[in-house]
Amino acid sequence: MTIARTCDVAIAGGGIVGAACALACAQRGLRVTLVERDTWGSGATAAGMGHIVVMDDSEAQFALTRYSQQLWHRLAPTLSVTAEYEQRGTLWIAADSEEMAEAERKFAWLSARSVPCQILSARELYAAEPNLAPGLAGGLLVPEDGVVYPPTVALELSRRAKQLGAELILGSGVRALGEGSLHLEDGSEIRAEWVVNALGAESARVTPNLPVRKRKGHLVITDRYPGYVNHQLVELGYLKSAHSSTADSVAFNVQPRRTGQLLIGSSRQFDAEHSGVDRAILSAMLARAALYMPGIYELSAIRVWTGFRAATPDKLPLIGPDSGDPSRLLATGHEGLGITTSLATAELIAAHITNQRSPIAKEPYLPTRYAPAGHALAHDSTHSI
Ligand SMILES: Cc1cc2nc3c(=O)[nH]c(=O)nc-3n(C[C@H](O)[C@H](O)[C@H](O)COP(=O)(O)OP(=O)(O)OC[C@H]3O[C@@H](n4cnc5c(N)ncnc54)[C@H](O)[C@@H]3O)c2cc1C
Repeated sequence: MTIARTCDVAIAGGGIVGAACALACAQRGLRVTLVERDTWGSGATAAGMGHIVVMDDSEAQFALTRYSQQLWHRLAPTLSVTAEYEQRGTLWIAADSEEMAEAERKFAWLSARSVPCQILSARELYAAEPNLAPGLAGGLLVPEDGVVYPPTVALELSRRAKQLGAELILGSGVRALGEGSLHLEDGSEIRAEWVVNALGAESARVTPNLPVRKRKGHLVITDRYPGYVNHQLVELGYLKSAHSSTADSVAFNVQPRRTGQLLIGSSRQFDAEHSGVDRAILSAMLARAALYMPGIYELSAIRVWTGFRAATPDKLPLIGPDSGDPSRLLATGHEGLGITTSLATAELIAAHITNQRSPIAKEPYLPTRYAPAGHALAHDSTHSI
């Protein structure tokens, strides 16, 4: 075996999380090496919707998503136009009075935490989104949420890290990682004071016994229909329809892109390892979308794809030192919120490495909340997009 390089921080995985970690560490003057097997942002980062969203299912999920959203607000003006960042706002749609009560609850919860938001009556809902199906009750508008094209951002963040001296290695698979080393598939080794597993849905392949499972999702992108949808639209029934932790599920979730295209989601499946399109779940997803937006069947779809989220039992990511090997840091398990929470994750990782004060409480995300090995994947009740 040859020792090819040494550095302070060696990061496995050039998705949005690994790229953000590389930049945050390089900005603190650390010598960073970032290793990606395929291309920058080619995993879940390329498959994701790019909805930057504040979530309220738990205080921990809120803290991470809100802090990260604020980091996105700072980053956005510096991104190139191809990153397609737009502050579209999320419109949570209430189908009936029960969901309207949920909109009110969400409004009170977010308002108490200083997140701007606004209840919309049915009339206001249709004024905002005329292509919605008739008969809906209203909604909740959260205007500071945004939309971005994640693979471009991953590329930009990794390039910025390189400008600050980071070494970027493309086309090398990481075979093993720990005890101050990244072992690459070509037999070389990178020695570092800290090694970071940012391999997303593949993270458990390289660090065995991680409580991370693949959760497959489908998305459809349409031709260009500028103005057809104005906000990121998500059904409030999402929490009922899309988040059964065991069964396959679909929910209405539509995003307007700067190009005028619409991204239509979403689906969730455990134990679906094959990346091919599942026609049954795709049909169910589109039928759900048509329930909220009947005209959707008239639009031309130009591509369908799938991707894998990295799901943890409590739907919070694993950020920080691994039990059993304190030099090995985990930055994985972001499920359906990893675009949103990538920037906050990077700040937590960089703060840990440089022994700085954590920008938000780090405890809820520490991997040590799980037993070091052999834990079963339990299910719980918190949610993510
Ligand atoms: C359908 C879908 C919709 C989503 N929508 C949203 C959304 O709207 N908002 C949101 O916030 N999040 C969303 N997500 C989640 C988000 O995409 C992910 O949480 C995020 O991309 C995770 O980034 P990552 O860098 O951890 O993982 P990845 O992007 O998967 O990056 C891991 C990288 O590691 C590389 N790799 C793998 N194995 C190796 C190896 N052995 N050696 C070297 N490199 C390796 C891969 O090629 C990949 O580039 C969605 C996900 C899906 C699937």
